[in-house]
Amino acid sequence: MNRLLVTSVTLLTKLSTEHQIAAHASYCEHVRKLITEHPLISHKLTALRDERTDSPTFRRLADELVMLLAYEATRSIRVETVTVQTPVAPAQGVRLAAPTPVVIPILRAGLGMLDGMTRLLPTAEVGFLGMVRDHDTLQPTTYADRIPGDLKGRQVFLLDPMLATGGTLIAAIDLMLERGANQITAICLLSAPEGIAAVEAALAGRDVDVTLVTAAVDEKLNEKGYIVPGLGDAGDRLFGVV
Ligand code: URA
Repeated sequence: MNRLLVTSVTLLTKLSTEHQIAAHASYCEHVRKLITEHPLISHKLTALRDERTDSPTFRRLADELVMLLAYEATRSIRVETVTVQTPVAPAQGVRLAAPTPVVIPILRAGLGMLDGMTRLLPTAEVGFLGMVRDHDTLQPTTYADRIPGDLKGRQVFLLDPMLATGGTLIAAIDLMLERGANQITAICLLSAPEGIAAVEAALAGRDVDVTLVTAAVDEKLNEKGYIVPGLGDAGDRLFGVV
């Protein structure tokens, strides 16, 4: 592994209050925070949360937020050095190394993050993972798997707007690892402390390179598994109730 990761999960986020840090010390002490705060991210996230925000605006804001998060999430993207000829002289630079990264939105809500991500990474391959969580048990089941069978040596970006219980993300990460992915970055617009703790617990003691990038960590999950205060059902807000 060519990264300076000392924990199984690295969190790039803003923990919004000291209270959260104290209340969730069990995971915070294992978590490295690489971004503290960005006013544009907070501004867009606040508008996203607002229940008066309609679907077209919600989609646009989610798209913009993903681009901002993706900028940070791709800091460890693999590059190789190249020389190009400018009109004046040769210049040393870099280009994305092969194999290209794989971007995988988790359907349905992750689809709302795909455009923003591929705008930044147009050469990435795109796979699709359909997962749905049972409303009663909150357990995920897979209903669509359009992911390369062999992800050996690949950098994978998983897109899922809400890290709630963590069940879906853990199942998705496990699937990527089974297929050989060696660097996984999950980009979530919002996360619950319970979900982060669950992901950390699932990865504890395993030699894996998993990074979580999120715009904010909210207070908690409610009894229905919704993030509080959250933004409601991300899929419904993106695409309507179908
Ligand atoms: N999924 C959502 O869309 N919203 C939540 O709050 C939790 C899971």
